[in-house]
Amino acid sequence: MHREPIVMVCTCEMAGRVRGKGFPARELPGRMHKGVGWVPTNAMINAFSMIPATPFGTGGDLILVPDPATEVEVDFGDEGAKEHFFLGDLRHLDGTPWALCPREFLRRALAALKEAAGISLVAAFEHEFTYTGVAEGPGNPYSLEAFRRQGVFAEVFTAALRAAGLEPDSFMAEYGGRQYEFTIGPAEGIRAADQAVVAREMARAAAQRMGHRAIFAPILDPNGVGNGVHIHFSFKGADGAPLMHDAADPMGLSTVARQFIAGILAHQPALCALTAPSTVSYIRLRPNRWAPTKADLQQQDRAAALRVCPVLPGPDVARRFNVEYRVADGAASPYLALAAVVWAGVDGIRRGLAIPAEGPALPASLEAALAALEGDAVLRAAMGDEHHHAYLMHKRGEIAGLAGLDEAAQCARYAETY
Ligand code: GLU
Ligand code: MG
Repeated sequence: MHREPIVMVCTCEMAGRVRGKGFPARELPGRMHKGVGWVPTNAMINAFSMIPATPFGTGGDLILVPDPATEVEVDFGDEGAKEHFFLGDLRHLDGTPWALCPREFLRRALAALKEAAGISLVAAFEHEFTYTGVAEGPGNPYSLEAFRRQGVFAEVFTAALRAAGLEPDSFMAEYGGRQYEFTIGPAEGIRAADQAVVAREMARAAAQRMGHRAIFAPILDPNGVGNGVHIHFSFKGADGAPLMHDAADPMGLSTVARQFIAGILAHQPALCALTAPSTVSYIRLRPNRWAPTKADLQQQDRAAALRVCPVLPGPDVARRFNVEYRVADGAASPYLALAAVVWAGVDGIRRGLAIPAEGPALPASLEAALAALEGDAVLRAAMGDEHHHAYLMHKRGEIAGLAGLDEAAQCARYAETY
């Protein structure tokens, strides 16, 4: 059959879904400037393809403009169409950024960090997921048997990551029944979030080619373990020098790192609304799941919200030293999650906050997290009123749509989407 290649331009908005529009690849040069048409209310399409409410109505036009630095062109070497897409920015027709553009929200956060402390953020995302191509078996955790059971998925996926320009770091069978995990090497600034988006799509694409799914939903079984997204981060100065480490500090943290972390902890309840944005995210965040239950910083403790990661001794300890934010999951847009964390950290730097001895409990539900976000003046100002208002409306509509479903049924709904 004759075929003509198609390219997509995508965004990853409040629902954390990668959505966009395609066009014939030969029109790419013109599309690099004019992008594809988009509608404000698209941001209100929730995880279940519903628009329970929208502040934008049916009107308005935007453009989704590809960022040339994000091009992904991956040939899986089969008969299937190439994965060829760009990530892009949502703009008004005159080219100015739209108030709800997720990449712009992150870009502004990174600029605020640079302005507040002269530093750049380096981040690496670690993703856990459920692979449907294997049977659930006892004795899975970290086992060679469970690794082997996934067949060639891991290798197809690794090749795809490499072809997409990412740096695969690790792949393993995790603790849960059909659960696996991978990590991508660190990247600076917005590229780290772009990579998180691309990596998950490569997992989905590889799984689909095997007739299966890679599911990134926060938890599939209310009695099981969850799929977390752990965001490792560190700082770099203008000269490239690592700025997160201070050997004199008991936890090895520099002053600016302590302030940044204190900002995250201060805003943690509200941050949850953006980094753990589904109703079932709060089933994952319960005790005994290796997931956080309170807003705390711990050294090498996997139940903490923020974990100071171990670094083997060596000449470049300061460069490898990093802290991990563990309160995120795969229902969150990596742009919104990373931006929210950075904005909270920037507030900690601006106010010179200290890390509290005891952190408060995390919100027990998405409703509670949204109430915290509603009352958080700093995050509201960072998002802008329009974005903040739309976000609350989006997520509250999603909660209302799940009324009457028990936890298992909600998990099943989210598993269909993510
Ligand atoms: N699955 C756990 C989570 O939901 C994390 C397990 C681990 O420490 O890697 O965050
Ligand atoms: Mg893990």
